[in-house]
Amino acid sequence: PAVIVAIDGPSGTGKSSTSKAVAAQLGLSYLDTGAQYRAITWWMVTNGIDVDDPSAIAAAAGKPDIVSGTDPSAPTITVDGTDVAGPIRTQEVTSKVSAVSAVPEVRARITELQRAIAAGAVTGIVVEGRDIGTTVLPDADLKIFLTASPEARAARRSGELKGADVNSTREALLKRDAADSSRKTSPLAKADDAVEVDTSDLTLQQVVECVVTLVEE
Ligand code: C5P
Repeated sequence: PAVIVAIDGPSGTGKSSTSKAVAAQLGLSYLDTGAQYRAITWWMVTNGIDVDDPSAIAAAAGKPDIVSGTDPSAPTITVDGTDVAGPIRTQEVTSKVSAVSAVPEVRARITELQRAIAAGAVTGIVVEGRDIGTTVLPDADLKIFLTASPEARAARRSGELKGADVNSTREALLKRDAADSSRKTSPLAKADDAVEVDTSDLTLQQVVECVVTLVEE
């Protein structure tokens, strides 16, 4: 039977790198659900929807066609056929994604896409996000919740952003965590049956090994 692995946690904990490596090593598909929320946010911004107006976002939530490619060695994301892998990582999208993803109509739409992708994965899938173990795939075979100190997370993220200031990166991360954790619909949370892994002092290799071992148990 297909293996379903849910990997949740805040940003900068190594979720994406870990999830891709675990999927590649085990021959599973991979889904970055943050990229889907970023893609719908990019569409809202591009189409002039006011992201501070939840009713406008709700009304438009069904419009963009968001398609995710799930090969862990080359994941892709398109909106209405346009490759948006680059544009969804801008600071503008990053600063607006929490507001857009808090709208229940957005979550319902994206959750439906996620469940369909997971159901179609032949050997199985690693799905990374914030609410996968709690809401999207509560029957996952394995649930991991990654954590790390704010310092470790900011250091990783500013490394990825090539020289971004560590302090402002840290503030932005904590602000996004607070918004993601406090929203009413499917907040960022650890499922009761998730295994928590603190990645602050572990290498990527060590985290991957730990998760692969848990899958194989
Ligand atoms: O993982 P990433 O940092 O790219 O996620 C971007 C944003 O998408 C998060 O800050 C959160 O607002 C939203 N998100 C979500 N639920 C998920 C994945 C991401 O609300 N399952």
